[in-house]
Amino acid sequence: MRTPIIVGNWKMNTTYDEAMDLIEELVEGLEGREEVDALDIVVCPPFPWLFPAAEHLEDTGIQLGAQDCNAAAGGAFTGEVSAAMLAEQCRYVIVGHSERRAQYGETDAIVAQKAAAALHHGLRPIVCVGEGLRERDAGETDATIERQVTAVFAMIAEGQVEECVVAYEPLWAIGTGQAADGVEANRIGALIRATIASLHGATRAAAVRVLYGGSVTDANIAEFIEQPEIDGALVGGASLKAGAFITICAIAANGSGE
Ligand code: PEP
Repeated sequence: MRTPIIVGNWKMNTTYDEAMDLIEELVEGLEGREEVDALDIVVCPPFPWLFPAAEHLEDTGIQLGAQDCNAAAGGAFTGEVSAAMLAEQCRYVIVGHSERRAQYGETDAIVAQKAAAALHHGLRPIVCVGEGLRERDAGETDATIERQVTAVFAMIAEGQVEECVVAYEPLWAIGTGQAADGVEANRIGALIRATIASLHGATRAAAVRVLYGGSVTDANIAEFIEQPEIDGALVGGASLKAGAFITICAIAANGSGE
C-alpha cells in the first residue's frame, strides 16, 4: 500500500510575508483534518523561506521539501545548496524538474547524481521525468521516460529504491492549463514502474510512488488520483492558493487511487 502524496512546488514565487501567510493558511486549513494522516502533504517553498517555514510547520504533519539541490557535498559552488544543508529541515527534494533541465542544462547524469546525493543525506528525491512536445510528436514519449528513469534508478542502491518518488510531468502540460489525460498518465505510471522493475525487481518498483504533474487543479485532481498507477500530484500554480491546495489534498485523501 503506497501512501498518496501531494507536493506543492512554489517555484520562484512569494515574498517572505506572502510565504508565511500561505504557510499559516495551510496549517490552519489542514489542522485536525484526516488528510494530514491519510497523505504525505509536502510544500516546497523557495530556499530562503525553508527555515522559517520549518518553524511554522513543526508538529503540523505538513512536510517540507526543497526545489533542488546540488550533487556535491560542499565546496566552491557559488550560489548552490547541498543536500546535506537541506536535510537539516527538509524531508524531500525535487530533482530534475524540466525547468532546470531546460534552463540550466541539467542532464540525466546530473539528475541521477542529485538523487543519489539526496538519498545519501536522508532526503527523499522527487525525480521529475517527462517528454517535450518534440518527443511526443515524434512518438518518442516512452523512450524518453525509460531513458530518464533508467539514468536515475541505475545509480540507486537496492535499499533506497522505495525512498524515491517519481513525478511524471509532460513538459507541454506544465503551466499551460492543458493537463494530460488521466488514462495516459496512468499508462506512463505503469511504464515508470516497469522500468524500475527491470532494474530492481517488481516488489521494489511496486513500492515507489509515482505522481502526475502538469496543470493540476482542484477541478482535475480527481481524474489523476483515481488512476491505480498514480499516487498523487506535483502541483505548481495551484499550490500558491491555499484553498485550492487544501481542496486538492482533500480530494486526494478520498480518492480511489491504490
Ligand atoms: C510544476 O511546477 O511542476 C508544475 C506541474 O506546474 P503547474 O502545476 O503550474 O503546471
